[in-house]
This record gives sequence, structure tokens and C-alpha cells, in this order.
Amino acid sequence: MISIEQTVELNLTTPLDNCCNCGATGGLNLYQTPLRRTRFMLFVGTQLTLLETFPYCPKCKASAPRLRKNLMSKLLAACMVCAALFLILVLSASGLPKFVAENLFYAAVIGAAIATGVYFYLREKEGGERSYYQPVSLADVDLDFRSGAIECVTLKLRNAAYARVLAKANAETMRVGMLKIDVRM
Ligand SMILES: [Zn+2]
Repeated sequence: MISIEQTVELNLTTPLDNCCNCGATGGLNLYQTPLRRTRFMLFVGTQLTLLETFPYCPKCKASAPRLRKNLMSKLLAACMVCAALFLILVLSASGLPKFVAENLFYAAVIGAAIATGVYFYLREKEGGERSYYQPVSLADVDLDFRSGAIECVTLKLRNAAYARVLAKANAETMRVGMLKIDVRM
């Protein structure tokens, strides 16, 4: 489905002040954190991967390569749950309440939507201060219309303390408008 792939090194300054996920200060190491943006237009997809290393503590390092599921894969997951649920409902139709038995397809769609929604919500909330998925994500990227070169990258950081450290270390890149940093609360 993906027809155009592009991988670019970001080359930001990422100081080892604290873990970019939980904020811890001990035992930090830089780990490769691929930031990805995928766009679909009908059947053509473009995928842009930006490579950058960020500091993680030993407990958070596993979150570095865990990309958030995009809408497309969430929909795909919901469709698969829906199909499985529909099959289960069909097989057990005789034991179901009448209004469910008469609307098996809609019951499966609603059940799948709730199950997938709850699953991804819990994954996001898992671990409290620590994110299961990578704590840095690519919120937006502006490309030059003709050359395709990157003009501006907007990063979304989960950890406000590390967002400040990163902003300070890359002040010049931000001043010229090539980097924006968002903090997600
Ligand atoms: Zn950590």
C-alpha cells in the first residue's frame, strides 16, 4: 500500500539531561527513535521516517521504537475484531437476547468499536508516568513543494521537562522556524 518511502536523519541536539519519557535522570542512554508520518491518498501512501536519538532510562528504552498506531491500522484492527465478533455472535445467536439476534451485524460493529477504542485508550494510559508508545512523535512536517526537502518539523513531546531541555538546546533551529515543539499534557 505504501509506494513512496523517505528516511531522513534529523540531527537535532538531544541532551542527556533526563529521560524523554518518564523524566528520570539516572542511567540514561541515547536510543534511536524513528518518527513516522504516513499519508494515504486513495491507494497511494507516502511514508516519511525521521531518525533521531533521544535519551531514555533503562525502564523506558523499550518505548523508543514503539510507534503509535495510525488511524489506518486502528481501523484495520477494528475490522478484524468486528469480523471475529460477528462470527462468535452468529454461532451463538440462539442464546442471545432477541434485539441482538436480529441485529447481529450492528451488534458486532458496535462491540468492535468499543473494544478497540478501550484497548488503544488503555495502552496510551498504561504505566501512568511512563508511556507505552514512544514519548516523542511527529506532529507535523512541512515539505518544500518542489524539492521535497524538509522545511519545518513539529515534534510532540510527552514530557514537559524534556521538551524545555530540547527547546533550549535547539534554540537556533527553532528561531529560524525549522523546528517546533509541542507538549502534550
Ligand atoms: Zn524513563
